[in-house]
Amino acid sequence: MPELPEVEYTARQVRAALVGASIAEALVFWERSIARPDSDAFCQEIAGRRIEGVRRRGKLLLLDLSGDYLLTIHRRMTGNLLVLPPGWHLDCRLRKQDRASWERVGPAFLNESYQCRCQEKRQGEQEETLCLLHDQPFYCRVCFTLADGRRLLYNDLRKFGKLALWSRGQEAEALAGLGLEPLGPDFTSERLALLLQGKKRPIKQVLLEQTLIAGLGNIYADEALFVASIHPLRRADTLSCEEVAVLRQAIVAVLQLGIEHGGTSFNDYRGLWGEAGSNYAHMQVYQRTGQPCRRCGTAIQRISVAQRSTHFCPHCQPVSQSARPSCGQP
Ligand SMILES: [Zn+2]
Repeated sequence: MPELPEVEYTARQVRAALVGASIAEALVFWERSIARPDSDAFCQEIAGRRIEGVRRRGKLLLLDLSGDYLLTIHRRMTGNLLVLPPGWHLDCRLRKQDRASWERVGPAFLNESYQCRCQEKRQGEQEETLCLLHDQPFYCRVCFTLADGRRLLYNDLRKFGKLALWSRGQEAEALAGLGLEPLGPDFTSERLALLLQGKKRPIKQVLLEQTLIAGLGNIYADEALFVASIHPLRRADTLSCEEVAVLRQAIVAVLQLGIEHGGTSFNDYRGLWGEAGSNYAHMQVYQRTGQPCRRCGTAIQRISVAQRSTHFCPHCQPVSQSARPSCGQP
């Protein structure tokens, strides 16, 4: 599931590649991928608009469009954006041939002469890289044809992601309920301490709540707690001020590292050109159950916290609380 680093990395790619481009036409292949307005109105209202800017808030990607429109994209489990250069043609024959398959995989995009650049682009790296362009089908749910002949695809295998079109005046509504932005200036130790005050839930669970901190998911919450040497089951309101400061720094560090590595492609996430991110190779605990801790050699353990699989090192992240008083106490 794309978390803040994956969305931020995509936002930077979209900004570099698509600002200034105009959307000639939108085609919706799975109507429920459009949250608002309905898919006919969505296609009508978005046609002819220019992409003027790209932003991110939490795990939401925001495209500022001409005419004071705002397109929000929430990728949820498996949503990805993919740019195809001019020359790919759309094949919708499946729609008539096999309705069930059509609804599962969407249209095909064909270009026999296209040579994928992703292998050569990443040749210098050690990690195995995969390319979406090599694993057809795309599971395309929405296709934006740009005026310059390129296509911007919204692909989503599991179909949980949502696109929504708003007027700029509705931005507050579009972003309602999102908590602190962890890479923003407001994410200070003091604010984090305030936010943890009175929270008797495990710290791991609290970190996942988007209304408190926007953008952390299962991967980066596990990684941040490891870096901060805090057990995922620690009651959030028992952290000392020192621990809160260390945790804040750890959250920022793991998110920035994730962005630097182009995101974590554990399974479905891909960048704008279909390339995999390389951050998975740098994971300290996430999905490393049974493997030796990179810091101390102890086997990484997996437990369940709030129904989410949670990975930690029992030696580096001891259950015992620090002897210092908790930060929230008066
Ligand atoms: Zn360890």
